Order: sequence, then C-alpha cells, then structure tokens
Amino acid sequence: MSKPKVAVSWNSSCGGCDESIVDLEEKILDVAEAVEFVLWPCAMDFKYEQIEALPDEDITVSLINGAIQNTDQEHVVKLLRRKSKIVIAFGSCACYGGVPSLLNLKNLDDSFRVSYTNSPTVINEQGTVPSADSEDDGHALSLPSVYKSVRKLDDVIDVDYFLPGCPPTASMIASALTALLEGKLPERKSVLASNKSLCSSCSRNDSKPETVSIKNLVRIHEVKADPGLCFLAQGIICMGPATRDGCDYPCIKGNMPCTGCLGPFDRTDQGAKMTGTLGGLLEAGDEEAAKKMADGIVDPAGTFYRYSVAASLLGGKREGEENE
Ligand code: SF4
Ligand code: SF4
Repeated sequence: MSKPKVAVSWNSSCGGCDESIVDLEEKILDVAEAVEFVLWPCAMDFKYEQIEALPDEDITVSLINGAIQNTDQEHVVKLLRRKSKIVIAFGSCACYGGVPSLLNLKNLDDSFRVSYTNSPTVINEQGTVPSADSEDDGHALSLPSVYKSVRKLDDVIDVDYFLPGCPPTASMIASALTALLEGKLPERKSVLASNKSLCSSCSRNDSKPETVSIKNLVRIHEVKADPGLCFLAQGIICMGPATRDGCDYPCIKGNMPCTGCLGPFDRTDQGAKMTGTLGGLLEAGDEEAAKKMADGIVDPAGTFYRYSVAASLLGGKREGEENE
C-alpha cells in the first residue's frame, strides 16, 4: 500500500513553523517512514509542476503555514487545496494572520517605504520599490503582486483543520499527525488544540487573588517579576485569559508573560476579549488616572492583537480596499 502523501508549504511567515516540524527530533524519522513528502520547500527540492501533475485529492494532507499576501501565495494554496484531501492551517499566521497581518493596521505604501527606502540600513538612492511588472535591459520582468490586506488561510481557500501556535509545539504537531495517521481526527473545521484558556492550565493560576486589582501597569523589563505569582496580579499584562491553552506555557515557565501566540480560544476577538478582561481589573480611581494607565500601554495593537489582526474585527480587512 502506498504511503500517505504530505505537503508542507510556506507563505508569509518567519519559517518557525517549518522549524517546529524539525523539532519533532527523532520522531521526524517515524513521520518520514510513515508518510511520503511530496512538497516541503524549506527542506526538500520539489517543483510545483510535480504537484500540478498529481491527480486531484491525491495528497493526504497539506500543512500550510503563513498568511496570504500576494498572488503567488494565493495560486499555490489554491493548487494545494485542489490536490489535497485535507488542508490544515498550520500555525497562527495561517489561522489568524499572525504577525504579518499587523500590516493591515498600516498603509501598504508606507510599509514599502519603511522596508525599501527609509530604513536606516537601506541604501536605495533611486527609491526603487518592487512592482509586479518592470523592465530591465529590454527584458520584461514580473513579480507576484502584493495585496493591500494580509489574509488568513481560510479567507482564501476552504480549510479542514486549524493548528495554531507561533509555532505549534512539537507535541501539538505529533498529536495532530498521530490522529491523522490513525484516522482519528475530530470533526472537520476543528481547532486541533484545547478549547480552554491558557489560564486554565497555568501553574500560576492558583496564585491569583480572588479579586485581581491592578493599580499600576508595569512592563516585564521594569520589574523583577515574582516567578510564582500570576503576572496580572503583578500588574504585568499577560494574554493568558484571552489565549488558547495547549502550549504547556513555556513563556510563563521562563518567567515571561504570555503574548498570545496560540490565538483566541473560543473564536472571539482576542484583543477585544483581553482589553475587556483588563478593563475589569484596572483600579485607576478617576478618569485621568485611567487615561494615564491606558497611555502607558506601549503598542496596544501589538500587545493585544500581535497574532490575530486578520481574524479580528479591527483589521480583518481594511475598509474600501479590495485585494484584486
Ligand atoms: S494571567 Fe498569565 S500568569 Fe496569570 S494565570 Fe493566566 S496565564 Fe498564568
Ligand atoms: S505562553 Fe503564550 S506566547 Fe508563550 S507559547 Fe504559550 S500561548 Fe504562546
């Protein structure tokens, strides 16, 4: 019997999701033994023509990481959708837009200027920025067109399962692959992780006072955080109440607050949930003190929506901007 075929593909992301597959360590040998990789651009040399030549639905599962930001990415994920029985949105960029979708809160032209002309480390006297069509020495050149909005994978293709994380942990990947190979995947459209909040399993949850009341917000580098006490009880923003459980809280164990990388746990807007939770905990006294506390939150969008702008009410898509 032929082995199940697996494709791994990469869009707008940092490469950490591919790394996390390698983090399976010796278990990767079992995976490689049990399946046939047909695409994994960061690790193996396959060509898209080989995928195009496969019959439709011939690939058992495609693990697609990264947000969708240009025409080439959209073309490849649509090809993989056609050729795959199961598509898993792999990692928080694919599930929720991730860090790349913070771009949806900015103007694309400004972002290009920062990246290609105004950055202190860039020398670009002619101010050249990438464009889809250009000419060089009489030759026409083309590049993928960049979209104005960054989209999560299920905004572009039908997705069967979601495996969030930045990146998903090795144990989450191993459980998902085991369920897949044993034919024990849950209901289609499920998130392959717990449906509870991170606080529900966090070892510091018991240290939370009955009522948390924050009189002063501080950042982690400004204080010596107590390694046994809930971060919120110390006035340090921790995204645990609005974040999906399942990572085994490595950040908390390292005495760093959660930044929310597993995304929302109940399909709500992660940032709205966290700001609502925080609002109920702040004890500012009067309006001026409350404003001072809010103003003290450096980079609110990056704090509350770092991994989920494309899945949020705030920046799912910029008003009046069509990608096509
Ligand atoms: S807020 Fe953070 S530190 Fe406190 S219980 Fe939740 S995850 Fe743990
Ligand atoms: S503790 Fe939070 S930021 Fe850290 S891995 Fe878990 S979900 Fe991600």
